[in-house]
Amino acid sequence: MYDVAIVGSGPAAVSAALTLKNHNKSIIWFGSAKMSPKVEKSEMIANYPGVAMVTGRELNRLYARQIAQAGLEITERMVTNILPNRRGFMLQGGDEIYEAKTVLLCTGSVSAKGFPGEERLLGSGVSYCATCDGFLYKGKTIAVFCGGREYEHEAEYLAELAEKVYLFTPYADCGVVRDNVTVNPGRIKEITGAMRVEGVMLTDGRSLAVNGVFVLRSAVAPGTLLRGLEIDGADIVVDRHMATNVPGCFAAGDCTGRPYQLAKAAGEGNVAAHSIVTYLAGLEKQ
Ligand SMILES: Cc1cc2nc3c(=O)[nH]c(=O)nc-3n(C[C@H](O)[C@H](O)[C@H](O)COP(=O)(O)OP(=O)(O)OC[C@H]3O[C@@H](n4cnc5c(N)ncnc54)[C@H](O)[C@@H]3O)c2cc1C
Repeated sequence: MYDVAIVGSGPAAVSAALTLKNHNKSIIWFGSAKMSPKVEKSEMIANYPGVAMVTGRELNRLYARQIAQAGLEITERMVTNILPNRRGFMLQGGDEIYEAKTVLLCTGSVSAKGFPGEERLLGSGVSYCATCDGFLYKGKTIAVFCGGREYEHEAEYLAELAEKVYLFTPYADCGVVRDNVTVNPGRIKEITGAMRVEGVMLTDGRSLAVNGVFVLRSAVAPGTLLRGLEIDGADIVVDRHMATNVPGCFAAGDCTGRPYQLAKAAGEGNVAAHSIVTYLAGLEKQ
């Protein structure tokens, strides 16, 4: 059982992790060793205190060096589900389950809206994790939404198990070439099924019958990640202490709303870390 689970590896998370480490809290930190893809894309940053004119790539490198010097490690797993329980939270990262007393969401802004039916049928035929749930579809027909080339190996893995795969990509020249894979038979409009997934409806009105749908993309909408989390539009609702409506769950950075800026993300990460320290002290007194 960790003191805190941090989800995301951008500036909000880096700031929080450094402060929590200074307070000797045990941390499980999920994200990417490459830190933040958003920061990476920034050509030149001129408004971040102390680092005049730095490229995003260089800033990511500085983050990676700083956390390594602090003895912090990132577990390279995508968190796909968070469940509150009596002791704190259970988090699903890949095919592993982790437990923490508190959670800090630093997931960035999520632009990818889920497909209609995705959230309702999550766990009833919709999955975010090929390695966790792929075996359930051995010899069956599935649809796979592959949100980026980095997930193609997961799609390949699913194609080894399933009898037939309809593969949907939002980009051209998909690298998955197999006899049992049909690439881009159309565009997904909706995932359908009453109690379980029964098919995918395409934008041209056709329906494909499938037993399951795998959605492979870089972010999960916060409301899907943690059911019951209060959301306003796409933003996680927080108070001045970066606390959400779920006790023990805090949020910082772009995921709490505008302005989408590095300094705001780092500042909120710092506030959240202090709030978590106070929250944990309260738990110890109980
Ligand atoms: C092109 C561009 C240029 C920019 N230029 C500037 C600038 O000059 N100045 C400025 O102040 N701001 C700039 N920004 C904005 C700035 O990059 C963001 O405000 C900042 O990165 C937000 O930090 P964050 O920590 O909230 O989230 P992010 O940096 O978005 O990091 C979120 C991280 O969480 C990970 N993640 C998400 N969900 C999960 C999950 N379920 N499990 C595990 N990991 C997960 C993501 O993969 C990502 O690594 C720019 C943004 C872009 C796109």
